Amino acid sequence: MTMGAHVSLPMYRRTLRQRLLLEGVRCRACGQVQFPPRGACPACRGLGREPVQLSGRGVVHAVTRIAPQGAPPEFSGQPMYAVAIIHLDEGPFITAQLTEDAPIGAPVRAVVRRLYEEDGVVRYGFKFAPEVMTGS
Ligand SMILES: [Zn+2]
Repeated sequence: MTMGAHVSLPMYRRTLRQRLLLEGVRCRACGQVQFPPRGACPACRGLGREPVQLSGRGVVHAVTRIAPQGAPPEFSGQPMYAVAIIHLDEGPFITAQLTEDAPIGAPVRAVVRRLYEEDGVVRYGFKFAPEVMTGS
């Protein structure tokens, strides 16, 4: 799920738990972690699964900078921003906006941020922030 895609209010409410708590699922058969949760396990096609709380930590796998004129309408008026594919520590790859630019391989962690307002409702979701190295 990309952050720029339109999300209807009912869909937003249904997926709020996943969005804010980073809850994925782990396959009972092979242990593969999926986020966001979808159908059968992509590795073994198994259907048995259990909820798993993701750490929200990972590394930048790829990054794209998006200029304001190329942004979807709900982001217009904002400065250029970076969207990255994050390789989570638990295995899944997810696409999310970065709070600030970060190079490939940089460690990042999920933070909850106000994304935009639509239909009179402020949408919150996670972005990824570069890990601050202690002692530097
Ligand atoms: Zn599996």
